[in-house]
Amino acid sequence: MTTITPIHVVGGGLAGSEAAWQIASRGVPVVLHEMRPIRMTPAHKTDGLAELVCSNSFRSDDAESNAVGLLHQEMRTLGSLIMAKGDAHQVPAGGALAVDRDGFSRAVSEALAGHPLVTLAREEIAGLPPADWDSVIVATGPLTSPALAEAVRALTGEGELAFFDAIAPIVYRDSIDMSVAWAQSRYDKAGPGGTGADYLNCPMTREEYEAFVDALLAGEKTDFREWEKDTPYFDGCLPVEVMAERGRETLRYGPMKPVGLTNPHKPDERPYAVVQLRQDNALGTLFNMVGFQTKLKYAEQTRIFRMIPGLENAEFARLGGLHRNTFINSPRLLDGTLRLKAEPRLRFAGQITGCEGYVESAAIGLLAGRFAAAERLGEALNPPPATTALGALVNHITGGHIATIDGGPQSYQPMNINFGLFPPLDTAPNGTDGRRLRGKDKAVAKKKALTDRARTDLAAWLDGRDRQAAE
Ligand SMILES: Cc1cc2nc3c(=O)[nH]c(=O)nc-3n(C[C@H](O)[C@H](O)[C@H](O)COP(=O)(O)OP(=O)(O)OC[C@H]3O[C@@H](n4cnc5c(N)ncnc54)[C@H](O)[C@@H]3O)c2cc1C
Repeated sequence: MTTITPIHVVGGGLAGSEAAWQIASRGVPVVLHEMRPIRMTPAHKTDGLAELVCSNSFRSDDAESNAVGLLHQEMRTLGSLIMAKGDAHQVPAGGALAVDRDGFSRAVSEALAGHPLVTLAREEIAGLPPADWDSVIVATGPLTSPALAEAVRALTGEGELAFFDAIAPIVYRDSIDMSVAWAQSRYDKAGPGGTGADYLNCPMTREEYEAFVDALLAGEKTDFREWEKDTPYFDGCLPVEVMAERGRETLRYGPMKPVGLTNPHKPDERPYAVVQLRQDNALGTLFNMVGFQTKLKYAEQTRIFRMIPGLENAEFARLGGLHRNTFINSPRLLDGTLRLKAEPRLRFAGQITGCEGYVESAAIGLLAGRFAAAERLGEALNPPPATTALGALVNHITGGHIATIDGGPQSYQPMNINFGLFPPLDTAPNGTDGRRLRGKDKAVAKKKALTDRARTDLAAWLDGRDRQAAE
């Protein structure tokens, strides 16, 4: 009989199931609290653990040139339950890993139910977990029950828990054409922590602006789901196409105002409108389109936003959206091992930390489980290096994102894993003949070099700091 005090995991979704598995695999007892079927969420339909609420895809399984494929590979290396059962219940989907959702959820449920160190408690935790639970992982997801969400909000503070995301597209810095765009803050204001050249600006002529507004108005929009219909449009968070609907000049007096900016490429020509992009991560590899939260369909976003001069070849690390969601301001609230700074007995995992997606949620559950188990066993466990997919993701959540330099509303928004979260390579890879690569070849070689570096660094991390945990 073990005498180790159990760790409590609240929420048996993607993150909570993975966290519970990782804890039990380290020989630590765990109680997994799942409120379904006693209380359902607006999206879940079953009482199964790790239910996939929408698509059945874990996205690309290409570990050489895709960031989520690399994340799959790293999770498999670390004994992920979600990946093992995903692989076992795979359905044909080309280069993607798609799963038979019922078989997958059943297999995850059976694995956890059959583990001698896992106790499943079907109950809602309708407030802060009891004070005598000294190690808790909160993994209650984007549809956290209202009673728990309110308790978290009371603990973290007003404004630190969001109930909706309002996401503006995020662009890879190196896909912006700097022969058209330029770096400058409005009126060259440095502001706190700025340099006076913190924004990238894309200029538009009157004709370009008119065509852009027409495209926004005509562009196909996504509908809210039935239970999202009361999603509020906050001041300052109006979708860009809704602003355009309010008047053809609204954008020019709002996020696209051309004032306080001089185009060094054409100093004698005053732009009619300007789209601004702001640095989004500490690495400076990602820039978000300021004020461009949107309900346009993804294909329409790519088409319409590439009409913007300087963004003709833009690659998007993520596209915009507006959804019901529940997530905390993790970069401010959590420490490097996902503990709430204000109450370290509580860890957060999954989409509630502001990662996005099934795989990312499970990945953060995996790390939270390992951190909690190591802590219980009195072992030190550092996060994986930021050059790995797991490390890049947790680093973004716990500090890689930078807050708005002009002190706007909470700027941290949910994010999928992408190569923009990885530290850039020290040197650009050359071709096999030693020549400098260009275009597509360069992009392919860069991704391969990033994923090779990740594999080497994950192995070193496992070899050293995490040797015991990996066994
Ligand atoms: C409608 C919708 C569609 C989505 N579609 C996709 C998609 O197609 N692809 C994708 O990659 N991502 C999608 N996501 C985003 C995200 O990846 C998933 O929501 C994912 O399931 C998040 O994993 P999680 O473990 O954080 O939360 P969940 O998987 O939602 O798990 C949270 C669990 O906590 C339980 N719970 C909540 N509150 C309590 C409480 N107080 N006490 C006890 N239990 C509680 C819930 O019942 C649930 O089982 C979608 C999100 C939503 C809301």
